Amino acid sequence: MEKHRITVVKGDITKQHVDAIVNAANNSLLGGGGVDGAIHRAAGPKLLAECKSIGGCKTGDAVITRGYRLPATWVIHTVGPVWRGGESGEAGLLADCYRKSLRLATEYGIRSIAFPSISTGAYGYPIDPASQIAVETVAEFLKTDQSILEVRFVCFNERTYDAFERALKEHF
Ligand code: ADP
Repeated sequence: MEKHRITVVKGDITKQHVDAIVNAANNSLLGGGGVDGAIHRAAGPKLLAECKSIGGCKTGDAVITRGYRLPATWVIHTVGPVWRGGESGEAGLLADCYRKSLRLATEYGIRSIAFPSISTGAYGYPIDPASQIAVETVAEFLKTDQSILEVRFVCFNERTYDAFERALKEHF
């Protein structure tokens, strides 16, 4: 059952002992603030060097690098949509981020993966619809995949944690 493979915790994604953590990156992959800044600080300079060699990432797409000094072996960098009011394809692009990240994870034999709440920081996506899309997209993916054992949503603040808990309850 996919329900038991989805967990929600409060905490810092850079501290998670999972095969892969997901970064809410920007199109340049050259580092930014928020969770991106925290991941680059914790991983060390080799992460930025590898990101530079990739060259960039489209919104809704995902790329993978090593985790360097992180406890996680891999970092999957995905670029969420900037919230522009909801009529600019934001929902589809946000779902793409979760789907593409999970697809990459399966290609690399990743069994446990931690996500931050993509797009709900600097990119301004409202937390309630964003958390619903996150939960629905992950649950849908896990129905067709048995290789991933845990998808962990790592919430940096109370508000985000509450929204993900609610979205999980509403979905299952
Ligand atoms: P975006 O540009 O996609 O909105 P942000 O990094 O601004 O990305 O925010 C995305 C989410 O990541 C927000 O909920 C923010 O609170 C959270 N966040 C920031 N730092 C961390 C961290 N170290 N671990 C987990 N989540 C974090």
